[in-house]
Amino acid sequence: MNPSTTPVEGGVLIVGGGLVGASLAIALDAAGVAATLVEAAAPRVDAQPSYDERNLALARATVNGLAAIGVWQHAAARATPIRYIHVSRAGEFGSARIDADKQGVDALGWTLPARELGAALLRRLDECAQLTRLAPATLSALQPLAGGWRAQVETADGTRSLDTPLLVGADGTHSFVRAQLGIDAEPHDYRQTLFVCTVTPERDHANRAWERFADEGPVALLPLAERRCGLVLTVSADEADTVAALDDAGFIELAQRRFGWRLGRLSRPGRRHPYAIHRVAATQLVAPRAVLVGNAAQTVHPIGAQGFNLGLRDALTLAELVAGAPDPGAADLLARYAARRAPDREGTMAMSHGLVRLACLPQPLLAPLRSLALLACDRLPPLQRLLARRGMGFRGEPPLAVLERLP
Ligand SMILES: Cc1cc2nc3c(=O)[nH]c(=O)nc-3n(C[C@H](O)[C@H](O)[C@H](O)COP(=O)(O)OP(=O)(O)OC[C@H]3O[C@@H](n4cnc5c(N)ncnc54)[C@H](O)[C@@H]3O)c2cc1C
Repeated sequence: MNPSTTPVEGGVLIVGGGLVGASLAIALDAAGVAATLVEAAAPRVDAQPSYDERNLALARATVNGLAAIGVWQHAAARATPIRYIHVSRAGEFGSARIDADKQGVDALGWTLPARELGAALLRRLDECAQLTRLAPATLSALQPLAGGWRAQVETADGTRSLDTPLLVGADGTHSFVRAQLGIDAEPHDYRQTLFVCTVTPERDHANRAWERFADEGPVALLPLAERRCGLVLTVSADEADTVAALDDAGFIELAQRRFGWRLGRLSRPGRRHPYAIHRVAATQLVAPRAVLVGNAAQTVHPIGAQGFNLGLRDALTLAELVAGAPDPGAADLLARYAARRAPDREGTMAMSHGLVRLACLPQPLLAPLRSLALLACDRLPPLQRLLARRGMGFRGEPPLAVLERLP
């Protein structure tokens, strides 16, 4: 296909209405760009696979972006600010602390259950004036055209054929769009399972988020409403069945052993949800008249809390470039998109992957170096400022929508 060909008639076609695809659809609608959103699940929080019980840590930049596209207004009441982040490693000295006050901001980020963000997205989608939504509807085939793509979509009313000058794959880790475009993905199995649930600590969390690394994998505790915390506990894949079979007392004992006693006794564990952890990185972000965003482009280890934060920056950057462009799928526009996303994407993926690998390696020789690195992050103001800015989601050339409240 010749990418310089005149674009076919039709709006941008977004395949996948998860957290990232829905955000992109809203951002395009807000910018006055015609688009169609095709989502396999019915438009209900309980039907959408990723609008579930995971507790999302949303970076400050993400909340700025969600506010700019009118989503945060529907979610803010259920979010909890993170004012302090504490990172340490079991059995080693040194820890890194990032304090919102010292960075001159009211919060470094916010936590929000994914189901609440999903509900806010669905409410905001209902307000979109020119967006066409097909759900439940599944993309089943793609055919290249001169100047675009023809998509075959299965709906309750039968098969529909849609032409688009720009196809967006927002269809998650196992992206059908990515495979159809012939884009390879590099998978990495961490051989780890995450258990996610809520717990109640004896002491008030005081809006602190804790991340603790250990040989067995990382464990995190995120502040939630009503003095609850979101626990993210990593175990090796070999142990996953045993941990899943533990009763509440056994699970709390394990969590306590792994997290320690900083917040006193942990109690009242909610329902446990297991997630097998993979990293999947597409070898390219764009193809002629097509682009990948969110987990379809890169799926990262959840412990760094980067997946949606990164995916939203994909969506908002794309919306910014497409807004007002005469041809949303023009080759130069897509090249600019890929170039602009590269530093943020590569930096964030390297950070997430490196953090998990380095911080969990058991080698005793690494211990003093790790402790010194944590101390350096804690004590050297420029390094701490850099870490804080990155943690707040300000990396590379961010989309304009996230900059409104830049400290
Ligand atoms: C336990 C856990 C904790 C996490 N914590 C954080 C965190 O704290 N902070 C953070 O930023 N990120 C976090 N993440 C990552 C975050 O949840 C993901 O990055 C995010 O959900 C990706 O959104 P997405 O829209 O790209 O993909 P998905 O949410 O997977 O959505 C893809 C959508 O595409 C649809 N679809 C698929 N195929 C088709 C098709 N052929 N036709 C039509 N529709 C299709 C699916 O139904 C789905 O709705 C966490 C992840 C996990 C597992």
